[in-house]
Amino acid sequence: MSEPPLEALDKAIIGDIYRSHTAYERLVELCDSCGPRFAGTAGEQRAATLLAQWLAEAGLAQVQREPFGYLGWRRGESRLEIVQPTAYPLAALALPHCPPGDIEAELCSVGGGEADDYRAAGAAADRLQGKVLLCAAESSGPSGQPPSHRRLKYGRAVTAGAAAFLYYNQNPGGLAVTGSLATRKPAPIPGLGLAYEDGATLLRLLEHGPVRVRLHVTAAFPEVESTNVLADLPADPASPHRDELVLAGAHYDSHDIAPGALDNGTGVVIILEAARALAAAYRAAGRAPRRRLRFCFFAAEEIGLLGSWNYVSRHAAELSQLRFMLNVDDIGHSDPGAESLHLVGCPELVPHFAAHAQAMRYPLSVHERLSTSSDHFPFVMHGIPAGLVENEASPERATGLVGRGWGHTIADTVDKVRPATVQSAAVVTARLLLRLAEDERWPGRQRLPAAVESDLAASGRLAELRQSGRWPPPWSTTTSDN
Ligand SMILES: [Zn+2]
Repeated sequence: MSEPPLEALDKAIIGDIYRSHTAYERLVELCDSCGPRFAGTAGEQRAATLLAQWLAEAGLAQVQREPFGYLGWRRGESRLEIVQPTAYPLAALALPHCPPGDIEAELCSVGGGEADDYRAAGAAADRLQGKVLLCAAESSGPSGQPPSHRRLKYGRAVTAGAAAFLYYNQNPGGLAVTGSLATRKPAPIPGLGLAYEDGATLLRLLEHGPVRVRLHVTAAFPEVESTNVLADLPADPASPHRDELVLAGAHYDSHDIAPGALDNGTGVVIILEAARALAAAYRAAGRAPRRRLRFCFFAAEEIGLLGSWNYVSRHAAELSQLRFMLNVDDIGHSDPGAESLHLVGCPELVPHFAAHAQAMRYPLSVHERLSTSSDHFPFVMHGIPAGLVENEASPERATGLVGRGWGHTIADTVDKVRPATVQSAAVVTARLLLRLAEDERWPGRQRLPAAVESDLAASGRLAELRQSGRWPPPWSTTTSDN
C-alpha cells in the first residue's frame, strides 16, 4: 500500500494553526466566562457546555457528554496559627478532600517529604506521631528519580501517625499551594497548603526550639456530578482500519482557587485547536482519516483522575481498539518550539516517534518514563501505549519558578500564558495525531493489564500508589458501575 498523502495534510494543518488565533481566544473565554472549574461545580459544568459547543463548531461528529457521580469536596474555613513561641496567624489553604478538624500540636519538619527525609525525621521511631508535619512541595527524588508526588508525601505522614500535614510552596510571592489529598472520600488527616514565606518562617522558628501550631478546617463532602465531553473525527468507512481508534485528551477541570489557565486550560485549547485543524484539513482534502480520531475532555482530574478512570471503565469494551492515547496537561508556561514527546509504558515507540520527528523536520525530543499523575495513567494501567506532549523548557528556565510554577496557586491565570506557546504545541499535537491516524507501520503493542501491574509491583511503584491512595482505581475497570 502506498503512503497516504501526508504532506498536503501536514502543510494544511501547520498553515491553518499558525494563521489562527482561535486557541488563545478560547483560552481567554474558557477562563473568563467559567472561572475556576473545580470538580463537580457549576464552573466545571459551564465549561462542559462550552466545550461541547466548540467541538460541534469544529465539525466533529458524535459530540457526547458522559456524566458520572461521586463524593466531592467543598472548601469551608481554613485557619492556621502559631501558638508557641509566639502567637502569629498564617495564611493557609485546606487541600481538596481535607477533613474538618481542630488540632493543636507540636510542629516537626520532614524536609522534602521523601522516604529518606521521613526516616531522618524519626518516622520509624514513632517520633512523628501526633505531630503536625511541615513538608516542602518540591524535592529531589532519591538518586536521580523523580520527586515523590504530593499524595505520597502525605501518605507517609498518615503512615507515621501524624496529626496533620502542612505543604509549603518553594516559589515566593505569598502563593499558598493546593493539590488533592484523597479521592471520593475524606482524607484521613487534615492537610493545608502554605506560601513559601510562611513555610520559611516556620522552619526558622524550628531552628530555635519547639513550635506549636493550631489549625481549624471546615469542609463539606456533597454528592456531585462531573461530565467528560468527547467527539470523534470518524474514519473513512472504506479503510480496513476504520474500527481502530486514536484518543487525544486533556483535563478541563481546575482547582477551586484559580481558573487554571496553565493547568489545564492550555491543554484543552491545544487539543481543541488540533481537532479543528485536522477536521478542516481532511474536509478540504475530500477524505477521512484511516483510523477514527477521538478528542476527549476529562473532568475531575485534579481530585484523582476521576474523568479518565471513568472513561476506561465506561469504554472497557473498546479499549482493545485503542492504538494510542495522547495527553496534554500543564504545558503553556514555557517557550514555543521546545515541545517534547514523553512516552509512558511503550519504550518500543521511542525510535518510531524519533523517526517521525526527523521526517517532520522538527526538533521534537522523544523519551520514555513512567508517570502516574495525569489522565494518561488509567490507559497505561490498561496496557495502552500513551504519551504526553510536554515542554522541554521547564517553568524554571522560562520564569525562574520551580516545580509547578504558578500551577495549583491563585496565580494560574490567563496572563501567564503566551499565545505562541499554545500555537506551537497545537501544531505539534495535530501533526502527531495525523501520523497516529495514518501510519501503516506501527511497532506499538498493547500489554496485558496484569503484566503492567506486576511490573509496577516489582519496581515498588504500586506500593507507593497504594500508600498515596491512588491505587486501586476509583471505579471497577472491568464493568461500568457508575
Ligand atoms: Zn493538570
